[in-house]
Amino acid sequence: MIVYSHPDCLLKDNGFNHPERKERITSIIESIKKQNELNVEFKESPLANLDTVFLVHPQNHIKKIFSNIPKKGLIGVEKEPYADTMLCPNSERAILRACGAGIAAADDLINKNDRIFCAVRPPGHHAETMKAMGFCFINNIAVAAKYLQSKHKVNKIAIIDFDVHHGNGTQEIFYNDKTVAYGSTHESPLFPGTGLETETGVGNIFNAPLKAGTEAREFIRIFEKKILRPIDKFKPEVILISAGFDAHFRDPLANINLESENYHEITKLIIELSNIHSGGRVISFLEGGYDLLALSESIKQHLLALKK
Ligand SMILES: [Zn+2]
Repeated sequence: MIVYSHPDCLLKDNGFNHPERKERITSIIESIKKQNELNVEFKESPLANLDTVFLVHPQNHIKKIFSNIPKKGLIGVEKEPYADTMLCPNSERAILRACGAGIAAADDLINKNDRIFCAVRPPGHHAETMKAMGFCFINNIAVAAKYLQSKHKVNKIAIIDFDVHHGNGTQEIFYNDKTVAYGSTHESPLFPGTGLETETGVGNIFNAPLKAGTEAREFIRIFEKKILRPIDKFKPEVILISAGFDAHFRDPLANINLESENYHEITKLIIELSNIHSGGRVISFLEGGYDLLALSESIKQHLLALKK
């Protein structure tokens, strides 16, 4: 299995006491390195090619984000009450490395037929076509999906998002696109406030909002019924995972009660589906997950299930 990351992803600074911090990546990499049975090949993410980014986000929008990058200190890109999506002097490199991981992973998926995990930050699933928000600037998974379609002629792609927050950005980008199915379990009500079951796109969007306090058995039952069943009918050629680990009971930003081992089961269910329709082709992208212990334990379980 291949794991993409890059030291530039550690340079993204969100300010004191911000949950989306560089230690997320260092603790993940440390944890993965301890797992000999994973047999991981670590690769450094390239900087994303801007023309590939423009498959999802208009040039003027990306240029505007980068032109707002401060020479020193931090600048927020959102208005209150969510003024915690920050640009720092090293943001451009981190953002392009995070996106570049998914693009390189897409090439590896097709050329090497391996499974890939992108251990990068900033995350991407809240980034809309024209809006940076929720710690996200470029929608990394959406760019990889569009790239797989344009470069590698993959037709139908499913994006499965088990982050505890709804991936409003991914939904918005593919809302009218029948070639991409998007399925998300997420706590509701919670940031960003989207992801109602009635948001169905062109029959390609599958939302499963969960009440605060949802336990693992109920989570997995709903995940199978509301996400995996419709994706099974969709028959994707590739499955991409928005892997956030903030539905863990230890996570400080939400109130769903998964344990680390549950991520093994959830991932296995996705792999089984990919073996039926997608030749086992899966790439996983790190999204959220803000308790360092929960994050490293859960990713270990996720990768043990992900590996071939
Ligand atoms: Zn999240």
